[in-house]
Amino acid sequence: MVIANHRGAIRPPQGRLRPYRVAMLAPPWIPIPPPGYGGIELVVSLLCEGLVRLGHDVTLFAAPGSRSSAMVREVLPRCHPDKIGHALYEVDHVARVLAALDQSADQGEPFDLLHDHCGFTAVALADRIALPVVHTLHGAFTADTSAFYSRYAENAWLVAISKAQRASAPPGTRITDVVPNPIEVSDWPYRSQKRDYVLWVGRFDDFKGAHRAIAAARRADVPLVLAGPIQPGQETYFRTEIAPHLDGEHVRYLGEVGGRRKQHLFANARALLMPIRWNEPFGMVMVEALACGTPVIAFPEGATIEIVQHELNGYLVEDEEAMAAAIADVDQLDPAACRQSVALRFNPEAVALGYEDVYRRATVQPPGWLLKGSAAARAGDVSVS
Ligand code: UDP
Repeated sequence: MVIANHRGAIRPPQGRLRPYRVAMLAPPWIPIPPPGYGGIELVVSLLCEGLVRLGHDVTLFAAPGSRSSAMVREVLPRCHPDKIGHALYEVDHVARVLAALDQSADQGEPFDLLHDHCGFTAVALADRIALPVVHTLHGAFTADTSAFYSRYAENAWLVAISKAQRASAPPGTRITDVVPNPIEVSDWPYRSQKRDYVLWVGRFDDFKGAHRAIAAARRADVPLVLAGPIQPGQETYFRTEIAPHLDGEHVRYLGEVGGRRKQHLFANARALLMPIRWNEPFGMVMVEALACGTPVIAFPEGATIEIVQHELNGYLVEDEEAMAAAIADVDQLDPAACRQSVALRFNPEAVALGYEDVYRRATVQPPGWLLKGSAAARAGDVSVS
């Protein structure tokens, strides 16, 4: 049997007789796709579209109000955008999904795998879930999450979103593969004629470098626009490092932006500045800018070196001084090449193909817990001392 993709093209079955039946587990906080801020929700949304286009049978378990080409199953009665990370809602959400998976199996329609994007519950329980659990790592490794993944990594099929993120995994943590985040380029406006400003978009954490963007733009003598939320804990940094430079002309702050306004901000900018000093796990703002034909000037940290192709879609520079020099050169880059650089590598189908490969391995190989002998423990072969 073969699978026809959305363009009607026929592709090989990759060793399977039928498409995968995927249970996609989104977080409970915000609907899919997200109406505003919501990085994970956007990734899940585009991944579902990509998998469905490849012919897979995807059920999306998500917050109420979600829409997708996949079959949507709303789990909790309400969204909880103001309770992000609260264990009560995450556990309730995941437990209800696990019950639904059991019910499907009982009705003779079992899923092939659970693809988890929802916190930590499913990973911690993966050796008690009857399906292979594929888990996308959406955040940077911290001391706490490193300890968690070191303990539970063998139970699930962990997928990193960049090589840099994989390299920062704690020693011994099994990362199955690297699959980047998707972007639908046609959802973003393309502009070849740029305005005079450079742009910084992010959160006001020191390591995201808004203050370094100010220094570089001042040195290059070009206007800078800053956009992003001031999240709890970031007030002092904003007050001391950013606010004194805001003059409504050379350095402007627009607050948090979304929707069409955000898109046009990206599309009209001469360049996006990424003067980061941390191991960026992916950096969605870079692919969003590039989708609009806007080059990215970045420090070579984390995933920037996987997204920015030096002198093709941007520049990789060591410091603020070099960033200022690159701003002067950036108009030489071709906006069409910038857009093309993400259209080819990060489109939802390409990303879905990456996950298809992970699913193939997860469904044909025994998961880690079988190798460790947990199966025997589950069957009752447990000695009590
Ligand atoms: N974003 C937004 N409005 C803002 C600032 C940021 O919608 O005012 C979005 C931005 O477009 C991107 C995401 O927030 O999709 C930030 O993702 P990224 O991976 O760049 O950084 P993170 O904050 O996840 O480390």
